Amino acid sequence: MKNIIAISALAAFFLVPYLSISQIVNIEKTGTGSEYVIGTYDANNPEITDTEYLSIEKRCAKNFNLLGLDKNEKNIQSVSLSWPVRAAAGFTDCGYYAISAHVDQNIATGVFQDYNCGTVSYDGHKGTDIFTWPFSFYKMDNSQVEIIAAAPGIILDKADGNFDRNCASNTLPANYVIIQHSDGTRALYWHMKSGSVTTKAIGQTVVVGEYLGVIGSSGSSSGPHLHFEVWTGATSSTYNDPFSGTCNTLNANSWWAVQKQYAEPGILKASVHITDVTFPGCPTTETTNESTTYTIPFQGPGLAPDYAKFYLFMRNIPVGATVDLKILNPNSTIFNSWTYSPTALYKTSYWGWSKHLPATPGNYTFQATYNGLTCSQVFTMVAASSIYDNLNSDKICVSPNPAKDILNIVISDLKNGKCKYILNNILGKEIYRENILIESNTVQKEINISEFSNGIYFLTIDNDNIRIVKKILIQK
Ligand SMILES: [Zn+2]
Repeated sequence: MKNIIAISALAAFFLVPYLSISQIVNIEKTGTGSEYVIGTYDANNPEITDTEYLSIEKRCAKNFNLLGLDKNEKNIQSVSLSWPVRAAAGFTDCGYYAISAHVDQNIATGVFQDYNCGTVSYDGHKGTDIFTWPFSFYKMDNSQVEIIAAAPGIILDKADGNFDRNCASNTLPANYVIIQHSDGTRALYWHMKSGSVTTKAIGQTVVVGEYLGVIGSSGSSSGPHLHFEVWTGATSSTYNDPFSGTCNTLNANSWWAVQKQYAEPGILKASVHITDVTFPGCPTTETTNESTTYTIPFQGPGLAPDYAKFYLFMRNIPVGATVDLKILNPNSTIFNSWTYSPTALYKTSYWGWSKHLPATPGNYTFQATYNGLTCSQVFTMVAASSIYDNLNSDKICVSPNPAKDILNIVISDLKNGKCKYILNNILGKEIYRENILIESNTVQKEINISEFSNGIYFLTIDNDNIRIVKKILIQK
């Protein structure tokens, strides 16, 4: 009965659709946010089908014999595992993952339980699912989270080149690596990004922590994550749970060198954005709208003048807990502060506030503290005059502004000769450039902007050592 209640509660939980934050709030005291619901599987829709298990068991058996590994088979687990994922070099967020499903410890059909007697699992699951959060597809596109060898061993099998933007359970093949350990145990690393799998050949050795691939959504997968599975022997029936706990009925000991705590509540990211983040849904890459530089005055799309969105991305923060948020001045005094207390327990959630930006140039810090741990992001306020010579120059006439499809530009009083004009988005990324020859001190151009997304852009014209900049709004 207890299990039935647990299942219906969980089913209801997973039926909650992804809630988008459509409204933009400019009132300081109000924030908006939501749980981020990840895709799920069940016994009828597994990540690795029985047919796929049989296929890899056969391939592994063949490679095992070819490599002469049969001579030292042991099958008594003695290796200890390191965490199988890491942030790529240059990635600076405070965290990047959450566990969406542990090994199912209840072998009965239709019920499931994790090693900690909780329900972070699904029926028949034989591995640990580590998914990237927030911005899973953005992280995948930019190869920000790598899968690494949890233990040293020999590459027993691998696959690459398969479609990696899958959103549902099906029979598509996965990109994967299977490592044979010296104690006879095996580790399976599933769902990698296409083209990211280690170039090492089957039979070559890997050391602990060695790069194996990038987290992706290949195979039967509802979004970018690593399915990590450990076997004591040569078949999927020998699967274990690397986590030890009261409800682990498969193996007594933890396989981890250092076992992570069950929920790991924390703040994965605290960041500043020019407007709301967007989660368009699998498999579209999310739009982060994040920036660490803001010009004074600042106009974020859809926001009140001089406001930005301050976001928190969280994992398992308990109901009633307090997160302290602060914007610190360059001298570390408080520019603004507020608190957040979740009203429901979410595996992954985000919350964003519209807050007034500082009006003085300098480096400011947005920080969020939960349970003594602080996650922070430095952002810079820059005086417009230090970047733009003449933001509102009347040498340029742009129409319409705001513009939708076509931008008509007329620039007068130019010096004849070479001239270039560049369109940058608010993050400074160049999105259009053209070199032209001025012949009658005037230029008239038409730019097709139908492919550009909404937002603030800067048109820069460089002519005879003079730079003219004009702010443009694209609004569809
Ligand atoms: Zn899995």
